[in-house]
Amino acid sequence: MDIAQLQAHFRGEVITPGHAGYDAARQIWNGMIDRRPAAIARCTGPADVAAAVRFASENDLYPAIRAGGHNVAGLAMLDGGLVIDVTPMKGISIDRKAMTATAQTGHTWGTFDRETQMHGLATTGGLISTTGIAGLTLGGGIGWLMGRCGLVCDNTLSYDVITADGSLVTASANEHPDLFWALKGGGGNFGVVTSITYRMYPITQVLSGMLVYPRAMSAQVLRRFRDFAEAGLPDELILYCGIVTTPDGFPAIALIPCYCGDDLAEGERLLAPLRKFGPPVADMVGRMPYLALQQMLDAAAPYGIRSYWKSSYLAGLPDDAIEACAAATAATSSPRSLVMIEHAHGRATAPAPDATAFGSRSHAFDLVILSLWSDPAEDQTHIDWTRDTFRAMQPWAAGSVYVNALSEDEAERTPEAYGPNHSRLRRVKAQYDPGNRFRHNQNIKP
Ligand SMILES: Cc1cc2nc3c(=O)[nH]c(=O)nc-3n(C[C@H](O)[C@H](O)[C@H](O)COP(=O)(O)OP(=O)(O)OC[C@H]3O[C@@H](n4cnc5c(N)ncnc54)[C@H](O)[C@@H]3O)c2cc1C
Repeated sequence: MDIAQLQAHFRGEVITPGHAGYDAARQIWNGMIDRRPAAIARCTGPADVAAAVRFASENDLYPAIRAGGHNVAGLAMLDGGLVIDVTPMKGISIDRKAMTATAQTGHTWGTFDRETQMHGLATTGGLISTTGIAGLTLGGGIGWLMGRCGLVCDNTLSYDVITADGSLVTASANEHPDLFWALKGGGGNFGVVTSITYRMYPITQVLSGMLVYPRAMSAQVLRRFRDFAEAGLPDELILYCGIVTTPDGFPAIALIPCYCGDDLAEGERLLAPLRKFGPPVADMVGRMPYLALQQMLDAAAPYGIRSYWKSSYLAGLPDDAIEACAAATAATSSPRSLVMIEHAHGRATAPAPDATAFGSRSHAFDLVILSLWSDPAEDQTHIDWTRDTFRAMQPWAAGSVYVNALSEDEAERTPEAYGPNHSRLRRVKAQYDPGNRFRHNQNIKP
């Protein structure tokens, strides 16, 4: 690859091996991924992205696309090839009257929320502030506001995309509606998305925090979690359950509610019975600014940590599944590891399964086993623990998975993430990227 040929048409920096910033530019969230691209093209705007895509096409390269770099499978980096890096692209414009925000795809949820909260606005976003808006939104997007506002992709109004031939296409309900549908969950398969317009909501304060119990109470807490969630929560209240170890080394299980309705006193009333249960060894639930919620869990998932995940939606959470989960997670192989069961309802599950490409609307409980550790010598121990725990829960797996939770060795599960939407996604892929230029992702083959 002749980098000078790219540089001639490029305004941003092109970082190659030997460059002082090379190691920093190739580092991504998952410290297990250590890839050495031949060039990282740090785009300053859509014109740079178009130049990089054309360069890839002329040189028969299949680029990786890097935004927040959080994908656990490390898909933002590759060995030897070209990385199209959108992180310098952090433009944002907010229309308070129309309640919309148009953001370039270099934003993380932290920088996006910071700007939109200036206007008193929020939309469903990720749980960790360093995650990129791009990869998370393109995979569908699950977050605290989803019961009231829908998934992240339910709130996208348009996307600007540089497609495989280097042209700029705007996809919305009126323009390229098939592409618009596919981008709502179909990942980075259709081109490099340069900006996204979101529908916003007037949310600045929420009620959230953790209710912490000893791990020995796992089965009781999981039953309480299931019963409370299934009793019919209002759309404004989301409840997660996390098997965690506290920073002082106490093996615990936590209930994590988030109420995002307009009347927080109503949220307090709804949560009162949950807070009485146990009682918890620590009750940290309280009113907090939305920005504090969006950083509440950051310390649990620092950039550069080693990580391996297994995940699946559950067909249900009957007592025997709860017993199996409690037994499998009585001890975790790493104190940093987390097992999350996330409950979805309301506007997250209301749309028809084919309303967007996001393929998993019909199952309420999502199991995510996130192993996290620092020492490379321990890799196999934690990978094995993750797989064993996942295997223990297989009898209750729904045969569906969130595409953004797939690990590096799970490419064959991509169709599972899309279910019946997979064949329509393949047709849209054939239309916009027939040569599969964008294949370094959870790939949908044309
Ligand atoms: C600690 C942690 C917490 C998380 N929490 C949540 C959560 O609360 N909710 C949730 O839904 N998910 C969550 N995720 C999963 C997250 O959605 C995915 O990891 C997602 O891929 C991250 O996006 P990114 O931009 O940071 O990643 P990157 O690794 O930069 O990108 C991932 C992939 O997205 C595609 N992509 C990225 N940018 C573009 C672009 N501009 N155009 C086209 N394609 C692009 C590419 O295929 C790329 O390989 C979490 C992940 C981590 C590690």
